[in-house]
Amino acid sequence: MADIIQLLPDHVANQIAAGEVVQRPASVVKELLENAIDADATSIKLIIKDAGKTLVQVIDNGKGMSTTDARLSFERHATSKIRTAEDLFKLHTKGFRGEALASIAAIAHVELKTKQEHDDVGNTIEIEGSIVVSQEVVVTPKGTSVSVKNLFFNIPARRNFLKSDTVELRHVIDEFHRVALAHPNISFALYNNGSETFNLPISNFRQRIVNIFGSKTNEKLVPVDEDTEVLKISGFVGKPEFAKKTRGEQYFFVNNRFIKSAYLNHAVSSAFEGLLKNGTHPSYFLKLEVDPQTIDINIHPTKTEIKFDDEHTLYALLRSAVKHSLGQFNIAPVLDFDR
Ligand code: ADP
Ligand code: MG
Repeated sequence: MADIIQLLPDHVANQIAAGEVVQRPASVVKELLENAIDADATSIKLIIKDAGKTLVQVIDNGKGMSTTDARLSFERHATSKIRTAEDLFKLHTKGFRGEALASIAAIAHVELKTKQEHDDVGNTIEIEGSIVVSQEVVVTPKGTSVSVKNLFFNIPARRNFLKSDTVELRHVIDEFHRVALAHPNISFALYNNGSETFNLPISNFRQRIVNIFGSKTNEKLVPVDEDTEVLKISGFVGKPEFAKKTRGEQYFFVNNRFIKSAYLNHAVSSAFEGLLKNGTHPSYFLKLEVDPQTIDINIHPTKTEIKFDDEHTLYALLRSAVKHSLGQFNIAPVLDFDR
């Protein structure tokens, strides 16, 4: 009988992997911002054109890459962040899969410029659809710039599936907010079609929230602080009278990574029981710190969902911490006559 199984060529495998990691321009934004943070940047600039469909560029002042690493960074499963499977449970970086750059380069035109601090010159590499078009020496500042142009140029179905610029820009800005909120100790700027949309100086968490959501936010914030053996909670919840009909400003960060969790959301909402008008949702900006050994981040390619060993305990601690803060700040139940 004839053998029919073949190994897929790299560029095909990369394109398949890209389907999982890159859904839209905002996915590229997330991956590039996270790489800049992992490179210990203190200043990160995001430049986009046409909501990221034409260009997503991230410029950082981080540690840069050597000539060999610059080329290797585009290989699949090539990462400087883990060495062994056990490292998955000691993660202190955003990345670890070594897939983002390979995936992005499979479905876009990518230009990388990078230089390490003590090198005189850096490297620039151009890759189009997994094919290296050029690699040259270049004069460039310390750090890394990655430009991603013409996303999905070789997958028309994906490109056509993208939403309007307004919708895609919303996703890009949401992603930018999540990353910027998680890292107030890094300065971030966002330029959209040539104009500066955000310029966030290095600050603390409260100030970062205010810089993003406006000065009126300051008076709405009630601090939450709880330090237990299994969980450290810090951050803010919005006062009940500022709750909204939409679920806009709800942020959980676990070990500085934005995550979505309906379960933890419920813990917070239930702490607000009796304090909210019907049909409104509290806003919150909560940072949870747990031992990396007690969570599994590797359950979803975009890492926005994670698995906790002991969800029930976290739920109870979170609920009680929020309740305690609301009580401490004398927040009385609202008399809701429309009920
Ligand atoms: P991962 O982040 O999971 O390791 P990526 O494909 O995103 O995978 O990046 C591959 C590697 O390229 C990283 O492990 C890192 O060593 C290097 N790299 C990527 N972006 C940067 C950057 N902005 N600065 C320095 N090194 C980078
Ligand atoms: Mg990465």
